[in-house]
Amino acid sequence: MMQESGQTADVLVIGAGMAGLTAAAELQRAGCRVLVLDKGRGVGGRLASRRIGGAAFDHGAQFITARTSRFAALVEDCRRAGAVEEWHRGVGDSPDRHVRWRGHPAMTSVAKHLARALEIILDTRVVALTASRHRWSAKTETGAVYSAGAVVLTPPVPQSLAILKAGAVDLQPETRARLEGIEYERCLAVMAVLAGPSRLRPPGGLAPGDGPIAWIADNQVKGISAEPAVTIHATHAFSCEHWERDRQESGRRLLDAATDWLGADVQVFQVHGWLYSKPLQVDEHPCAMVGQVPPLVLAGDAFAGPRVEGAALSGWAAAEAVLAVAS
Ligand SMILES: Cc1cc2nc3c(=O)[nH]c(=O)nc-3n(C[C@H](O)[C@H](O)[C@H](O)COP(=O)(O)OP(=O)(O)OC[C@H]3O[C@@H](n4cnc5c(N)ncnc54)[C@H](O)[C@@H]3O)c2cc1C
Repeated sequence: MMQESGQTADVLVIGAGMAGLTAAAELQRAGCRVLVLDKGRGVGGRLASRRIGGAAFDHGAQFITARTSRFAALVEDCRRAGAVEEWHRGVGDSPDRHVRWRGHPAMTSVAKHLARALEIILDTRVVALTASRHRWSAKTETGAVYSAGAVVLTPPVPQSLAILKAGAVDLQPETRARLEGIEYERCLAVMAVLAGPSRLRPPGGLAPGDGPIAWIADNQVKGISAEPAVTIHATHAFSCEHWERDRQESGRRLLDAATDWLGADVQVFQVHGWLYSKPLQVDEHPCAMVGQVPPLVLAGDAFAGPRVEGAALSGWAAAEAVLAVAS
């Protein structure tokens, strides 16, 4: 039996990425007292930005698109608040006129805007969830315990399953098999500060289509960096092959492959590894209600689409599932 040492809430939301933030905001709007826990130092999850000196990088999601009216309304709210700006409407010979939104000043601005009225505890990694008759307890790596009448769990599915396994939470065999079947792409992301402007033309990002690079963008041309600052995303194949190898060496290989687009010396670079970059399979449901008494719902981009919009739709679906059980 876990001792309670942390706070209590009506609903605990684990993860302050897009799914967790939209779930938390919706539950709070419905009158629940919501507490969000995230292991990171900031909010956003894969909506991630970083600085190296005066250079700024988006090194996770590069842009946001809105295909549903509900998500378009949220993007419009962010635009009015100055948290997103239109970046472009498609590149190359056949622009599709579909707006790609960039975060302003960077992608994490979207998460910060959504987080502004929420109670969020950062630097808090949940290691196990256990259920008593009517409540969930979330134990953190420092031994603190937070409890609530319901939980929305939004880390990538393998990480969520590890939290459930550590708390010996029983899942129905078919649910477990369904969730264990969800795999993710890996992505090595290089952030390089250049000595001068790159050769990437406006809007500043492109997907080469072959070779080890899936995406390359100049964050200065994109409009978020004061200095030439290039983000390179490796393909899943390259990332898997190089995952265990020396990161600086893998970064140099990607920079060599990008020579034609760089056009200037690299002053300094860093490499970030996304173990769970984008889901390779998307579940048939927008969220997974794995327990009703007390309610436990899994959400995230693996449930409603491998992009920021999918994560938001899944977060909303999870909130509605919790509210439906409570009513
Ligand atoms: C390299 C890359 C490029 C991408 N490009 C695009 C793009 O251009 N456009 C687009 O729409 N999408 C893009 N995506 C996908 C998009 O970023 C994701 O679909 C979306 O951000 C996922 O949101 P989420 O809330 O489901 O998960 P996450 O953002 O992963 O949020 C999960 C949160 O849970 C937290 N967490 C995990 N484990 C624990 C724990 N044990 N305890 C507490 N907290 C925990 C994490 O810190 C994280 O904040 C990209 C992703 C990557 C990685």
